[in-house]
Amino acid sequence: MPSIADEIASRRTFAIISHPDAGKTTLTEKLLLYTGSIQTAGSVKGKSSSKHAVSDWMDIEKQRGISVTSSVLQFTYNGCCINILDTPGHQDFSEDTYRTLMAADAAVMVIDGAKGVEAQTVKLFRVCALRGIPIFTFVNKLDHEIRDPFDLIEEIENVLGISTYPMNWPIGCGQNFRGVFDRASRHVLAFEGDGRANATKKVGEIEASLGDAALDELIGEENHRALMDDIELLDGAADEFDLDAVRSGKLSPVFFGSALTNFGVEPFLKDFLRLAPAPSPHIDAVSGDEVDPTADDFSGFVFKIQANMDKNHRDRIAFLRICSGKFERGMEAFHVQGDRKLKLATGTAMMADDRAIVDEAYAGDIVGLFDPGIFSIGDTLCTGKRHVRFAGIPTFAPEHFARISQVDTLKRKQFVKGMEELAQEGAVQIFREIGAGMESVIVGVVGVLQFEVLEQRLKSEYRVEVRRQPLAYSDIRWIANDPEELDVQKLNLTRDTLRVEDMRGNKLLLFTSPWNIDWATEHNPALRLSEFGNVT
Ligand code: GDP
Repeated sequence: MPSIADEIASRRTFAIISHPDAGKTTLTEKLLLYTGSIQTAGSVKGKSSSKHAVSDWMDIEKQRGISVTSSVLQFTYNGCCINILDTPGHQDFSEDTYRTLMAADAAVMVIDGAKGVEAQTVKLFRVCALRGIPIFTFVNKLDHEIRDPFDLIEEIENVLGISTYPMNWPIGCGQNFRGVFDRASRHVLAFEGDGRANATKKVGEIEASLGDAALDELIGEENHRALMDDIELLDGAADEFDLDAVRSGKLSPVFFGSALTNFGVEPFLKDFLRLAPAPSPHIDAVSGDEVDPTADDFSGFVFKIQANMDKNHRDRIAFLRICSGKFERGMEAFHVQGDRKLKLATGTAMMADDRAIVDEAYAGDIVGLFDPGIFSIGDTLCTGKRHVRFAGIPTFAPEHFARISQVDTLKRKQFVKGMEELAQEGAVQIFREIGAGMESVIVGVVGVLQFEVLEQRLKSEYRVEVRRQPLAYSDIRWIANDPEELDVQKLNLTRDTLRVEDMRGNKLLLFTSPWNIDWATEHNPALRLSEFGNVT
């Protein structure tokens, strides 16, 4: 019987982040294929997949064939228990995508080698960087023409502000892609692509050492010479490999490969599992102490709430990231924010193609708890004499705004209740223009689909029809100054900057462009703006 410590040491909980179309779904699927978790390609949900995975919980999802909320895939490989947190990235990009990153111990950043660092990657990266989690880079699509690898590395470093360590180095790309050079073993892994996109196993990897005459034959004389030059340059100029720097999110190991043709996925997975951390301690905000994941006492926090998984039940599911100890179905735990003991009667884990009831789970795992409306995002659950309380989840800056008002003014009560409840649940963020009432509300979302979710839920759950007027604001900032020290009304702002407040009375500014943010800070030296809201 493995001990709690063994169970936890074997866990790797991570998220894969990318800009849409960089290859996140393909890489996830290849990881599942390698590890034998799925047998056929196409089972991982994605825009092109006909098979819906775990979370088709709303009509809107079924109509569009996408998932609105993120789920978790758990599987075992080589003695590791792997949890991949799915971070929706297309139209379904939402605040939940960011919240999910709060539950990850590491991130894999997939970059399209032809495109480099794209907008959504930057946003997701910043949330990971906020937490200082290790970030592993997978430069994808080497079977296509990609940009110069040195340029890509430089872009990652400059745009994202993280140092890099190329673990391997590509030999050609596109038609001329011959493989990668593994810097640790000093071997070339040759690519013998036959373009079979869904091959389950690696496509021919032949090892040879740099400088071997045989390499001329394998990759061509010219490629061999270019590779030797590149490696000399890399060995001389690049950062040293430093595991501590990787673990603290300061140095990103970079892997080149091609998820579609299965090249480089297996070596990546092996290195990733070796270098990525097991669940690490979380800080108890009350005492400031670290909570040891292997402690006997159970603890965890809610990072996401998903409503109406089953249309026949109003219940929601609260996703809990376990931070220490062991979860057992039916156990009692203390709900810190609710100040009472609860029986955690039902837990579910999100498996690759089914939702299964979980009997036990350990630090690093995610369980879904049935929630009759008692949990909020950021809540802590724990056992043991000493109650811990994890720092909550920040509020992330929405990027799309609309004014929402009720069509039938007689339904004001339902409207206000619906808006407040949905905002509390974390589905949307709501703001009030300073000095205005609640007849209309400004709603902010991270992904535009959330507007539709909001409208549909107001209609079906609260019987309220609403009107939506899109607003031209694109950026929001929390005012971090003490309310006593700064009068928001007296700020010197451009005419199209709006002063609003959130549900907790925090003051914010809505801007139509980043240029206006600069203007505001330049003209109000005392003003301190924050991109992330207070923790919940
Ligand atoms: P996601 O949006 O990040 O999940 O991206 P997908 O995994 O859905 O991939 C987007 C497109 O890129 C799909 O058409 C994939 O087949 C393709 N793709 C993914 N990986 C590779 C690769 O390694 N090489 C090539 N040529 N295409 C790829």
